[in-house]
Amino acid sequence: VSAFQHLEQAPEDPILGVTVAYNKDPSPVKLNLGVGAYRTEEGKPLVLDVVRQAEELLIQDRSRYKEYIPIAGLVEFNKLSAKLILGDGSPAIGEKRVATAQCLTGTGSLRVGAEFLSKHYSQHIIYIPVPTWGNHPKIFNLGGLSVKTYRYYDPRTSGLDYEGMLEDLHAAPPGAIVLLHACAHNPTGVDPTQDQWEGIRQLIRLKGLLPFFDSAYQGFASGSLDADAYSVRLFVGDGGECLIAQSFAKNMGLYGERVGALSIVCRSATVATRVESQLKLVIRPMYSSPPIHGASIVATILSDRNLYYNWTVELKNMADRIISMRHQLYDALKARGTPGDWSHIIKQIGMFTFTGLNKDQVSFMTAEYHIYLTSDGRISMAGLSSKTVPHLADAIHAAVL
Ligand code: PMP
Repeated sequence: VSAFQHLEQAPEDPILGVTVAYNKDPSPVKLNLGVGAYRTEEGKPLVLDVVRQAEELLIQDRSRYKEYIPIAGLVEFNKLSAKLILGDGSPAIGEKRVATAQCLTGTGSLRVGAEFLSKHYSQHIIYIPVPTWGNHPKIFNLGGLSVKTYRYYDPRTSGLDYEGMLEDLHAAPPGAIVLLHACAHNPTGVDPTQDQWEGIRQLIRLKGLLPFFDSAYQGFASGSLDADAYSVRLFVGDGGECLIAQSFAKNMGLYGERVGALSIVCRSATVATRVESQLKLVIRPMYSSPPIHGASIVATILSDRNLYYNWTVELKNMADRIISMRHQLYDALKARGTPGDWSHIIKQIGMFTFTGLNKDQVSFMTAEYHIYLTSDGRISMAGLSSKTVPHLADAIHAAVL
């Protein structure tokens, strides 16, 4: 008898499980709108040209080895990543107040950040929005933090519950950590306005809460790297502290390369140096040091003027295609006279539309139309194309009638 005989079959991951179900469906019209990965108009995954070019350069360079890199990752990559999110000429960088560690993408950066906070920060409560990316509570719990929630999405308006959010943050204990989606909130696609961000910032600073930004979509949401970094730069601009988990999965299409960074913006250079030394102690027993390849690609692109420029063009193309899918889907529902106000499809931002479809409607669309999405009604706009919009619109129409 096996030592593991007592194990029960674990459920599929709620998001990745959608793809498992999709793969099993033999229908030729099946459509996977579950996972958040970019697809071309032809429905294919995309490797950016600049990524291919950077890889060529890396392969040709015979002086490169496969030696271990430092515990906190490639120094050049860390500098460039911090500059990308905080902006050229950021005083925090100039004053050497930022400690950055290359981590295993957004997920790994959040996890390292959580463990660092649970070891070295006085308050272990982290507030996350309702709803949020399903992995957030699990990452923070396992990282040693205690998870509480703040109101975020208002289903009545398909928009932000700004008052509710402020009330909940106001009631948070002093010093509590607050997880904020830097832009393109997942799954709702609802972001605060600039004025609302300012209100949130004032409250967080007034109450001495500690902001932890999750930046998984910089440049991918609006097509502009600067516009999508607005919230982070607003907070860093006031001189206060925060954490930032950065992912290059979407904006450079480097999903499986697992490349990202955790930056901790501190009050002083002295503190930042100590923070970095402690981050290394968190990382070393976890995985010793991060992988080389993805971070080398990113560093190559970010440090070369031409590659950088071409990246911004390719990034904008991806963002624009997603925005155009929003308009096409909205128009298709209007044309069908589908009951309901669907304007949130064009108002929401980023990779996802939070349709408002309920669990039963989603099951119906999967059973009758072979369309796969998460049961909360979230659809990945990047998985759509001009050819598949009519099929999705037919399915939504039938589901809500
Ligand atoms: N945060 C959010 C909000 C996300 O949507 C994602 C990706 N789905 C991530 C973090 C992390 O993804 P990765 O680890 O691939 O960067």
